[in-house]
Amino acid sequence: ESFHDVDMGEIIMGNISLSRYTRPTPVQKYAIPIIKTKRDLMACAQTGSGKTAAFLLPVLSQIYTEGPGEALQAMKNSENGKYGRRKQYPISLVLAPTRELALQIYEEARKVAYRSHVRPCVVYGGADIGQQIRDLERGCHLLVATPGRLVDMMERGKIGLDYCKYVKDLLHFVPLFRSKNALAFNTLTVLSLDRELCVSVVSYLVLDEADRMLDMGFEPQIRRIVEQDTMPPKGLRQTMMFSATFPKEIQILARDFLEEYIFLAV
Ligand code: AMP
Repeated sequence: ESFHDVDMGEIIMGNISLSRYTRPTPVQKYAIPIIKTKRDLMACAQTGSGKTAAFLLPVLSQIYTEGPGEALQAMKNSENGKYGRRKQYPISLVLAPTRELALQIYEEARKVAYRSHVRPCVVYGGADIGQQIRDLERGCHLLVATPGRLVDMMERGKIGLDYCKYVKDLLHFVPLFRSKNALAFNTLTVLSLDRELCVSVVSYLVLDEADRMLDMGFEPQIRRIVEQDTMPPKGLRQTMMFSATFPKEIQILARDFLEEYIFLAV
């Protein structure tokens, strides 16, 4: 019953100590190994259970150990930056119902990512969109967002989730992405037919407090985000849903968004 049971890398283990987390909470104890093995997850857990760290620790440690990624390396090595200097677009997306929760997740992500190259960002409604866009443009590995603001940004063409415009064309590379323990799973290094370099798409998707998001009427926005052309379909991304309750509507969302998932109730 220790965070050391799962290897999350030195920096993140150090940051866990800095946060004074001495032992994993029950949801962390069970969810972290599941997420580390790249399975989809439906977890029923309450606020205060430590569910935030339960997904942030394994996702950020995965992003961290992958390093800058082969794709970015390939870009750097390409002749005279043939592909230009590309920004880091989010490879992990966390959707949360409220500004308060989004900020809380973001703050925890900053603690977990402290002293690493991994950069978290947050966007939410009711605040200056221009400033949030500028922050995103500095590069972002993990984006925490409320659904309404994210759709707003997608509509303005301001969000890099559409960076890889040809994900659908790339589906014949499926075997590559499906090898769940391969590093390649999380960073798509593919030259599509028109030689557009596709660097990163969302490989980790988290829906936090999914029942509250539905209660607040966010289902259309969530579907818009998750079902957009440029989001890898289920099975090609890792999806984690957290919810305090598991009513019919959440079961339907789980059926639609998750692939052969593990159900965890704590
Ligand atoms: P959450 O359920 O994610 O909102 O977390 C509730 C609170 O528990 C937050 O203030 C966390 O910082 C704290 N917390 C999370 N995991 C641990 C842990 N393993 N040990 C002690 N505190 C924790």
